[in-house]
Amino acid sequence: MTRLLIEGGTLLGLTAPGDVRPATDLLTEDGRIRAVGPEAAPPARRDPVERLDARGKWVLPGFVQAHLHLCQTLLRNGPENLELLPWLRGHVWPGEAAHDSATMSVSARLGIAECLSAGVTAILDMGTIRHSDALFEAAAASGVRYVGGNVLMDDPRTTPPSLRAAAEEGLAETERLLATWHGKENGRLAVAVSPRFAVSCTDGLLRAAAALARDRGLVVHTHASENRGECALVEERTGLPNVAYLDAVGLLGPRTCVAHAVHTDESDFRLLAGRRTSVVHCPSSNLKLASGVCPVPELARAGVRVALGSDGAACNNLLDPFREMRLAALLPGVRGESGLLSAFDVVRMATVQGAAALGLAGPEGFTVGARADFVILDPDAGWSLPDDWSAEPYGAIVYSMGRENVTATVVDGVVRYRREDPSVGGLKPAPAEIRDAVRSLRARMREI
Ligand SMILES: [Zn+2]
Repeated sequence: MTRLLIEGGTLLGLTAPGDVRPATDLLTEDGRIRAVGPEAAPPARRDPVERLDARGKWVLPGFVQAHLHLCQTLLRNGPENLELLPWLRGHVWPGEAAHDSATMSVSARLGIAECLSAGVTAILDMGTIRHSDALFEAAAASGVRYVGGNVLMDDPRTTPPSLRAAAEEGLAETERLLATWHGKENGRLAVAVSPRFAVSCTDGLLRAAAALARDRGLVVHTHASENRGECALVEERTGLPNVAYLDAVGLLGPRTCVAHAVHTDESDFRLLAGRRTSVVHCPSSNLKLASGVCPVPELARAGVRVALGSDGAACNNLLDPFREMRLAALLPGVRGESGLLSAFDVVRMATVQGAAALGLAGPEGFTVGARADFVILDPDAGWSLPDDWSAEPYGAIVYSMGRENVTATVVDGVVRYRREDPSVGGLKPAPAEIRDAVRSLRARMREI
């Protein structure tokens, strides 16, 4: 039995802005909250308990990276000033096709280490066509909560031969991953059905992917309406706007996560809300690829759940929830109107709404039985102000904290990152290993 006692932290439960409990103990047992407050003191006769001193620290539900491409971590710092489609064709797809299982493993371990050390407890990863086992192996070893799968791309009109799998082949690979990884590591690992986007998939594949996800109760992970050229291409091919087309093939549902949704309108908001589909806002990626800005206030007002993601390191070029929170909170300000999105709303997007989008059901907040996935923040570190929680903790987290404030990351009741150990328990590859992997990946890219 794994038991962890987090002592004396200020608990920010995020169920409401006032859900703040100063100097409160928290006991977890086998990945769930067992007791909060005075009952959290474990009786001496029971199994041993690991202790984590959180006095003067803030404990909150862990950050969720709800849209990520771990296979792209080694593709960061690539060409600049490109829009989505030329950037995909010229850099990302050759890079993904060039991976072998060794470079995929380095890419995944580096990306997960970057996430865990920024307080991320769960990841929704798009994966790629081949070497998906290397992604799951890295996730299993790291202790992070991971939802991923092989990306589905089968349309010869729009995808390169090096990064294409026929519909039956791609879905058979998803089934193989399901049999091998789904529900493993105490339920930390899950397989998602991941049609990349409408442009890269045939109609038949999208319908079959929707049926598989529905039959097996799986998360669907896709991109939509990121870029104007992409939207025009989908409409030209299908006669429908992008989001309506995804609905027509059966892909929109309560377990579907749609990354971006930048070029969306009232009818899309109504459709997404009606299907209870989640949107994942990736502000850095959308600005870097000059895609535009997701209408988050309108989506939220329509009742759409919005989570946050970094997208791949190739279009960000960081995997850092603090940067995404800050941008998400600031961007509505370009309209010259304040109060469209509060700091509290943004912290919820980065945490509990992400968890809900990934299908991690269960009680919210610091409630007995809730999942024991936490980030612990030190307000004395970095450049925020010491322990100013009583005034406005959410503004401090969004606007003045960063990864330097993260002292520990707890997943499933186990401490997976401590500030004292920047190697993240040896997960982060050494510089020489990263350098060698980048060199061999880029050499193979040149041959593609
Ligand atoms: Zn993406």
